[in-house]
Amino acid sequence: MAIPVIPSQLTLEIVTPDHALTHADVDEVEIPAEGGYIGVLPGHTPLLTSLQIGEMWYRKGGERFYLAVAYGFAEIQPDHVVVLAQVAERAEDIDVARAEAARRRAESRLSKPPADHDTARARLALMKSLIRLQVSAKARTRV
Ligand code: ATP
Repeated sequence: MAIPVIPSQLTLEIVTPDHALTHADVDEVEIPAEGGYIGVLPGHTPLLTSLQIGEMWYRKGGERFYLAVAYGFAEIQPDHVVVLAQVAERAEDIDVARAEAARRRAESRLSKPPADHDTARARLALMKSLIRLQVSAKARTRV
């Protein structure tokens, strides 16, 4: 019986409808999957999952790279991961002032009576802004 070969790395592709953000060989990936965060190492079982609004990171050697992602899908294979996100930003590309403004706007909408607005939409906007702020802060503290 043939012994399965475990790949040494993962090829990671992160793509949005607008552009390709990342195409790299990496050692580990963490993804905000629909049911919770999934850690992926080379040799992972094949899996297709939708994405929630969240933080994702990948590791190359001793360095982690963070992104904010929202919606879309991830396809995991033993030797590659493809993230097809509706929205994705690298930590260093996040406009903090814009995310702060989005957070304030969403919080203000949520503080008004529900009949005035779309609460679900405001909640999602708030979640996106908070994830952007969280991811951006990690980029600034990366060692
Ligand atoms: P805003 O209310 O500030 O427009 P949003 O959550 O409505 O934010 P999205 O619809 O999620 O924005 O994204 C629209 C585009 O703007 C995407 O390309 C996304 O990557 C980009 N974008 C949104 N907010 C930021 C940010 N704070 N920094 C960098 N890019 C952002």
